[in-house]
Amino acid sequence: MEAIQQFIREIIEAAYCEPVRSPDAFKVCEAIGIERRAALAGQSEDADCAQAPMAMSVREEREGGRWIIYHDQTQRPERQQFDVAHEIIEQFLVDNDDLIDTFTCGEEAEDADQWRAAMHEIAVFYTKDFLINRDFFEQDAQEFEGDLAALKGLYPHASHEVLAYALLAQSGPHAVLTIIDEPEGSERKIYRRIRGDMWPMREPLLPEERELIQACFASGEPVRAERDVRIPAWLYEGRIRLRADPVFEPGWKRVVLFLLADQE
Ligand SMILES: [Zn+2]
Repeated sequence: MEAIQQFIREIIEAAYCEPVRSPDAFKVCEAIGIERRAALAGQSEDADCAQAPMAMSVREEREGGRWIIYHDQTQRPERQQFDVAHEIIEQFLVDNDDLIDTFTCGEEAEDADQWRAAMHEIAVFYTKDFLINRDFFEQDAQEFEGDLAALKGLYPHASHEVLAYALLAQSGPHAVLTIIDEPEGSERKIYRRIRGDMWPMREPLLPEERELIQACFASGEPVRAERDVRIPAWLYEGRIRLRADPVFEPGWKRVVLFLLADQE
């Protein structure tokens, strides 16, 4: 989907005159002449938007076919950035719907809902390329050894979760990303557990992973470790490196854990 990446590059160039690590989706939106309206979910005057649980875009007929993006201002700032970036990409796809054919290998989507869903999935996939400039990210990730807090400082418009996915994407097929949440007053639970090849990881947590998660929740500090292990699911026996980073906010704690195998 070169065309989508090309489009993302062009609109970011339109907003910034130089390459930028962490584009601001609001600024890009303005630069390409798309109107953005902050709305409270369920409180928009627009009938369609009133039912929208999250951001959405509409083509405003009475205003000459211009696009307008509504986003929920009660969401966290990074979530609003994600939603707006996502909607910009989705609008591009609506105007270039032949690209969807490429994506579905020429098979016609059966109805409008399916079409919409395909468009949404593609837009979600490319949103991280919007918020994180890959030309910088690879080197930054290496330089800071995957330190999430440091990367977040460089990429303020991307959430920790989006950054974690970007790290996973360049960590090889046998890396595992696990995100564990502990909302105040509720049980700690796994929110995502996924391998570097983007397949869900079915194997339960290794004792070594549990140990790091425990230590990270307890200290609120990044924890690093190296261990020799056997992982039967991968037929792997050897050294692993583990990295746990805390993302703590009032009333809500998250730990982002990476497992990296030295060899495949
Ligand atoms: Zn969508």
